[in-house]
Amino acid sequence: MKQDFLFKASNISKYYGQNIGCKNVSLDINPGEILGIVGESGSGKSTLLNCIYGNLEVDEGDIFLNDKSEKILNFTKISEPKLRLIQRSDLAFVHQNPRDGLRMNISAGGNIGERLMAVGHRNYGEIREIALNWLEKVEIDISRIDDKPSTFSGGMQQRVGLARAISANPDVLLMDEPFSALDPLIRRQLQDEFIKLSKQLQKTTVFITHDLDEAVRIGDRIAIMKDGVVDQIGTAEEIVMNPQTEYVANFVAGISRLKVVKAHAIMKPNVTDLSINTPSVRNNVVNLDASLTEIIEMSIQRPGDIYVVDAEKVVGVIEQSDILKTVIEGTE
Ligand code: ADP
Ligand code: MG
Repeated sequence: MKQDFLFKASNISKYYGQNIGCKNVSLDINPGEILGIVGESGSGKSTLLNCIYGNLEVDEGDIFLNDKSEKILNFTKISEPKLRLIQRSDLAFVHQNPRDGLRMNISAGGNIGERLMAVGHRNYGEIREIALNWLEKVEIDISRIDDKPSTFSGGMQQRVGLARAISANPDVLLMDEPFSALDPLIRRQLQDEFIKLSKQLQKTTVFITHDLDEAVRIGDRIAIMKDGVVDQIGTAEEIVMNPQTEYVANFVAGISRLKVVKAHAIMKPNVTDLSINTPSVRNNVVNLDASLTEIIEMSIQRPGDIYVVDAEKVVGVIEQSDILKTVIEGTE
């Protein structure tokens, strides 16, 4: 039977002597999702990602990969050569520092070509074609294909690193603080490009960041780590609306509800069976995933209740007081 997870960490712990790297972590990584792991420095993010990748051996627990053959593999039980084969063909790892993932003394195209050859490509023309295509996708001027990454800026190097990592068409992309070494402007630009690219590719991605805003902007779901433990995992909206620990509540206190809270979390379910064709309803509708900002804008233009629709049906009502309550609770 096909399982819905791609990766599953089940109660994994990793110790460095007396130090806890990560402890009792369980999480599912779903096909196609972007999961952001966020936490302060030393909270165990890199340890967790390296355990998932198989670079670090876990001390307790299991890591399951639902691979292409639809067999579920236990990463902690397979042989070393098999693990390396899976890392090469099914996974890709992007490091914080592009120097750790790129060879600086061979060309940008060569870096991608090397990755492609590792998964069996042999035809030179074909390899160059794919390399050009990926450089274009990460918005590197293709005339620079034969230049060495050592002559590129940090942002361009990270782009080549990304192109190299995804060129072999991995199932899962794992990234350890891929944007944090970059200047703020370049960083924002690369985040935006990554969001665009990942929408096209629909590639399952786990990325680490110590920047909560980055996690909210990029991630479909967020896991918040502290002292080696995942305190909470969920959408930004779920976490902001319902933090499970005091630490998480404080950690997410700065996220504006305007960005993350959607209509479905504010509305009262429609119990009166209102029709979308009622004149007072028709002009005041939003979708289930309308943001709080959109709802406020509509409420300024058209006072009165706002109706939430899904598939041409009214599924909920938002009164002005619901909007105000949501905003006020977020500022406490
Ligand atoms: P993060 O990536 O969130 O900054 P890490 O996973 O690097 O956190 O580290 C988690 C904890 O494990 C920290 O307390 C760190 O000091 C410790 N740690 C990480 N790597 C080692 C190591 N090689 N030897 C000893 N302790 C380590
Ligand atoms: Mg780290």
